[in-house]
Amino acid sequence: TGSKPDISREKSAELYEKAKTFFPGGVNSPVRAFKSVYGTPLFIQKGDGCYVWDADGNQFIDFCGSWGPLILGHNHPKIREKVTEVMQNGMSFGAPTALENELAELIIKNNKFVEKIRFTSSGTEAVMSAIRLARGYTGKDKIIKFEGCYHGHSDSLLVKAGSGLVTFGETSSQGVPKSFALETIVIPLNDKDAIKAAFEQFKDEVAAVIIEGIPANNGLLIQDQDYVEFLQQICKDNKALLIFDEVITGFRLGFEGAAAHYGVKPDIVTYGKIIGGGLPVGMYGASAEIMGHISPDGGVYQAGTLSGNPVAMAAGIAQLTELSRSGFYKDLNAKTTEFAESIQRFATARNYKFKVFHVGSIFWFAFTDKEAIKTAEDIDPQSMDKFKVLHRELLNRGIYIGPSGYEVGFVSAAHTKIELEKAKRAILEGLDVVFRN
Ligand code: PMP
Repeated sequence: TGSKPDISREKSAELYEKAKTFFPGGVNSPVRAFKSVYGTPLFIQKGDGCYVWDADGNQFIDFCGSWGPLILGHNHPKIREKVTEVMQNGMSFGAPTALENELAELIIKNNKFVEKIRFTSSGTEAVMSAIRLARGYTGKDKIIKFEGCYHGHSDSLLVKAGSGLVTFGETSSQGVPKSFALETIVIPLNDKDAIKAAFEQFKDEVAAVIIEGIPANNGLLIQDQDYVEFLQQICKDNKALLIFDEVITGFRLGFEGAAAHYGVKPDIVTYGKIIGGGLPVGMYGASAEIMGHISPDGGVYQAGTLSGNPVAMAAGIAQLTELSRSGFYKDLNAKTTEFAESIQRFATARNYKFKVFHVGSIFWFAFTDKEAIKTAEDIDPQSMDKFKVLHRELLNRGIYIGPSGYEVGFVSAAHTKIELEKAKRAILEGLDVVFRN
């Protein structure tokens, strides 16, 4: 086997040309533009289970899952039915509905890390608001974030961030005032001395330390247990809040996300993606005492016209209800482990410089011979050339993964043994092509 001929992208290319006249780069979110991989972005027409179809009628087994929310796969009948039912009564009121209580109850009753929550319409809003809450609560201004962690696109967090920023090689955004960026202290992950030094230099100025539950926007940077516990301690010692951004890991690793995975209690948690079942929902939560500082109870203002939108709540309720069935995560995680390890065995047997890092149902393909990758700096940017080849070979074999080597992939409950086996074969063939070149 060798390279496969390219799939047809005629219709996608046509749509893309038109899209470029409307949107910068032809897209409404940068990574979608396929800038760091081969060819025109695929315009998706339909998704069902673990499959998506593009405008040219090509079918793919999808491991992007809308970047994480679709843990049950595309167009899950339970979610579709619930959403359709709720929509019959109207789509937005800007007034409280019982659906918000229902989703909140599902989250809070099954999660020891939050007592009170506030829904937003995106992960970005959730994290931006969590930061404001931490500042309002502590009366301090500075925050510590980690190199490579992506927390959405609010000003103070677009400094040395992952996701589209690292994909396009410019890790900090233009347009963020210097004075804002000065309030964000950026340090490397997995480095106790760096955070100690930051706390010493900015004594009594740090409101919060924010970290992704398991950093997954700049490769999958799985942190040591000992390091995460250390973060909790150093925050306590310095009266700074620890914020876990679990927009990816929340309800992905389990109902209590990375916090339960590490057994560490963050002061504020943010969720998104999965809790909205594919509709726009984010959320931040904390103890009742900390959340008491949010308006109208407290002085930290945060609001949203479409926050708690009934249709979005309906999707979240349907999805979390499915996830709460016993054995759900055990099955999904076991399936992913088997998938990742079987690919790894093959790569190792052929001496390929390739690792599949994985946790729960998240995986990341890394072109490296390192046993572990824990910091953004450990990733060789040159290795992305290999990803580009693999990405093309996978598309040509009917496998869709996110168009960036820095992004992770997701296995969903809709992937059966059959599709995982098929995907595995395609990946192995793709690797043969990459390493023959
Ligand atoms: N935090 C993390 C950890 C994320 O991965 C993302 C998005 N991928 C965000 C925040 C921002 O969420 P959204 O794109 O919904 O604004």
